[in-house]
Amino acid sequence: MTLPSLRESLEAHGLMAKKSFGQHFLLDLNVTRKIVRLGQDDGNSFDGQVVIEVGPGPGGLTRAALESEAAYVLAVEKDSRFIELLSELDTAYPDRFGVVEADALKVDEPALLAERGLPPQAHLVSNLPYNVGTPLLIKWLTGPWQPKSLTLMFQLEVALRVVAPVGDDDYGRLGVISQVLCDCEKLMDLPARAFTPPPKVDSAVVRLIPKTQRPAPNIIRNLEMITAAAFGQRRKMLRASLKGLGGEALLAKVGIEPTLRAENITPAEFLRLAEAL
Ligand code: SAM
Repeated sequence: MTLPSLRESLEAHGLMAKKSFGQHFLLDLNVTRKIVRLGQDDGNSFDGQVVIEVGPGPGGLTRAALESEAAYVLAVEKDSRFIELLSELDTAYPDRFGVVEADALKVDEPALLAERGLPPQAHLVSNLPYNVGTPLLIKWLTGPWQPKSLTLMFQLEVALRVVAPVGDDDYGRLGVISQVLCDCEKLMDLPARAFTPPPKVDSAVVRLIPKTQRPAPNIIRNLEMITAAAFGQRRKMLRASLKGLGGEALLAKVGIEPTLRAENITPAEFLRLAEAL
């Protein structure tokens, strides 16, 4: 079955982007295919596996995911206007596609997968709505369910924060938590003009692959607390910013100079602090 172009689909359903849903669409399939291809580089193949896509909108990234060898693509879309348009993909890709109308911040991914008889493991791909991009990433990083990999389009500023090395201007809480829990890589930049309608800022695709050795949930909670305290007062020395969490004594336990600042501490050192707390 030949699908209409994404523009034709939008027109046929009388759909326009809505700002409140953070809608900036990718209507060039060459771009969405590139994202899916790069997401699978270095042995992170989707072959025979489930892909969850958050915010499919008109379905450009969805179509690219369906063109891969993924066994099933499950899309989670909050805007009810798109459900009918997306359901047409079911005809083109019978038994390989499902769409759920839901808020990705609230969905229980293992339950969604189990309801469809799918395995509990899945890769995530998304051109994220900018307004909820960071909370969604934090949910997938620190929550009870971990994706096999996350290939995510963010506004450039957030992408840079995820991959920022220690000492960098963009280095902060998001980078530490992401890099302690995942191998993180920026895959490609995309200018604002690649989207319809164009957002005010440029974007980039980041891939995060959760590490096999995952810290226990209480250590992850400690890490969240320590990074919040340390970067909440990033100009202060750690002995001051971490005062409420053990201050100098905690730093001495792991051999970190109390006069250093949050931006000088590597993700591995933050993990040691979280373990010592
Ligand atoms: N994937 C499409 C593309 O690349 O053209 C659309 C991307 S657009 C930046 C973000 C999409 O996420 C929109 O379809 C929007 O309706 C949807 N969305 C916004 N908030 C959401 C949420 N909380 N849960 C699920 N989808 C959401």
